[in-house]
Amino acid sequence: MTTTTEYGYNSKVEGEVIVSKADAVINWVRRHSVWPMPMGLACCAIELMAAGGSRFDISRFGMEVMRFSPRQSDCMIVAGTVTYKMAQVVRRIYDQMAEPKWVVAMGACASTGGMYRSYATLQGVDRIVPVDVYISGCPPRPEALLDGMMRLQDKIKTESSTRTLLRNRPVRDLTFQKK
Ligand code: SF4
Repeated sequence: MTTTTEYGYNSKVEGEVIVSKADAVINWVRRHSVWPMPMGLACCAIELMAAGGSRFDISRFGMEVMRFSPRQSDCMIVAGTVTYKMAQVVRRIYDQMAEPKWVVAMGACASTGGMYRSYATLQGVDRIVPVDVYISGCPPRPEALLDGMMRLQDKIKTESSTRTLLRNRPVRDLTFQKK
């Protein structure tokens, strides 16, 4: 088996046995059972909700189980404008989520502050939490969210399953409090 092969199977040799790597199996389970924490903060959240409807059907990717508890979710989707007032709450909920966990910044506001270059708006949620996938748009359409979630699946696929439990995920700037 090469290092890039996820599983090996030869019916003449193994019969009903499939050989694989622990990382491949664990990451396969993880990427097909992402439970999002819908951090809907503004208009982008409407597109996030649409992704759960029958037209776009996020359940095709095993991601329809939106949880409103950090104890039951592993992917925070930040959809909307992050104000300084809300930033503390976003960070606290992120801290309450268990590893392994991922963050998706959905839309211009969550990614960069968007058009709100103002004293009240955090200029990107990556100042307080480590972001795995950024999705452009104002707002991004549900298809863009699905594409971003598939990019996240690709990222999970290449991770070391144990290292993600131990990593100390850095963030660019934790000093988000207003001066
Ligand atoms: S990116 Fe656009 S649609 Fe999304 S929250 Fe900001 S202003 Fe609203």
